[in-house]
Amino acid sequence: MTQTLLLLPGDGIGPEVASAAARIAEVVAPDLAIESDLVGGAAYDAHGTPLTDDTLARAHASDAVLMGAVGGPKWTDAPRDKRPEMGLLRLRKELDVFANLRPAFCFPALAAASSLKPHLVEGLDIMIVRELTGGVYFGEPRGIDTGPDGVRRGYETSIYTAPEIARVTRVAFEIARGRSGKMTSVEKSNVMESGLFWRQEVTAVHAAEGEGVALSHMLADACAMELVRDPTQFDVILAGNLFGDILSDAAAMLTGSIGMLPSASIGAPGRPGLFEPVHGSAPDIAGQGIANPCAAILSLEMALRWSLGRTEAANRVRDGVARALEGGARTRDLGGTLTTDGMCEAVLAAL
Ligand code: NAD
Repeated sequence: MTQTLLLLPGDGIGPEVASAAARIAEVVAPDLAIESDLVGGAAYDAHGTPLTDDTLARAHASDAVLMGAVGGPKWTDAPRDKRPEMGLLRLRKELDVFANLRPAFCFPALAAASSLKPHLVEGLDIMIVRELTGGVYFGEPRGIDTGPDGVRRGYETSIYTAPEIARVTRVAFEIARGRSGKMTSVEKSNVMESGLFWRQEVTAVHAAEGEGVALSHMLADACAMELVRDPTQFDVILAGNLFGDILSDAAAMLTGSIGMLPSASIGAPGRPGLFEPVHGSAPDIAGQGIANPCAAILSLEMALRWSLGRTEAANRVRDGVARALEGGARTRDLGGTLTTDGMCEAVLAAL
């Protein structure tokens, strides 16, 4: 059966980097059916909404969704519920992608671009698995109001249920087994009940289903320190929504430019995952053809690996990017002069 990749280029540099990724896909997976549709500001301009029901249905029917980026100053005054970002949030919610995979991988050729000394990041290859649809970002009650004592207050609820923890833990196990088997679960069990519960549940799922996975636990603050002290000690890191958000941004920056960072959001097996660069629509450079397409190309790599079951093609893409960098290919964010097309050509040549 033909597999379908739905391309949602979006706004700003989104279409520029997405079309580079599509060119790579045509080479490494020529039998893949690539469809395209609007999202974000582009969809708002055309249809008055950042994500139409029709596009959502196409996303559900596809095998993987590859996004560019959404947003930009043009839509600052759009109604709040019609803002470009709302299209992305709805897509994540409707696809029920509860596990966010954020690799922090240092290409050897870019070790000098890290904020840390090259010897600390050489060989860095971390996968952070962040729970994406629960925890303190969604817990109720939440609000800003005046308490019974007449004092104004702001609050939210940090809550995780056992099934929410179990399903993302299983994803992390699967990933760990495909790597070194080493996994670190992160929380604040010393001061948070939901953190203690997280540790208990991860431990229980590990006892029942964790064969082949060496599990350890670390407090989130200690993990933040260790990430900048000795990052290569980590392989797979599992965290809830809040700590995963913070730690994945910190870890990602160890690897150089935001233009190199892909992400994947996946749900239940057999359901389409959502793959997208970490960066936004970069209005400051949009339309100039100078954006680094590597984050989008590496997001395609993750789609091939995690939703389309094409490990060989995924490895080809990753090796292609590594070889292009080794050959000196650099866009401006990496200190070079290549255009988006030029970088894409360099990766194509390396394939
Ligand atoms: P941004 O990631 O778009 O840009 C931050 C900086 O990084 C800019 O200087 C930009 O030029 C640079 N940059 C980003 N991607 C690059 C690439 N591929 N190559 C070279 N340089 C790159 O973040 P921002 O400026 O805070 O946000 C701009 C818009 O994007 C906003 O509307 C924001 O809401 C939106 N946004 C969207 C997403 C998404 O679609 N997932 C994520 C973040 C921000």
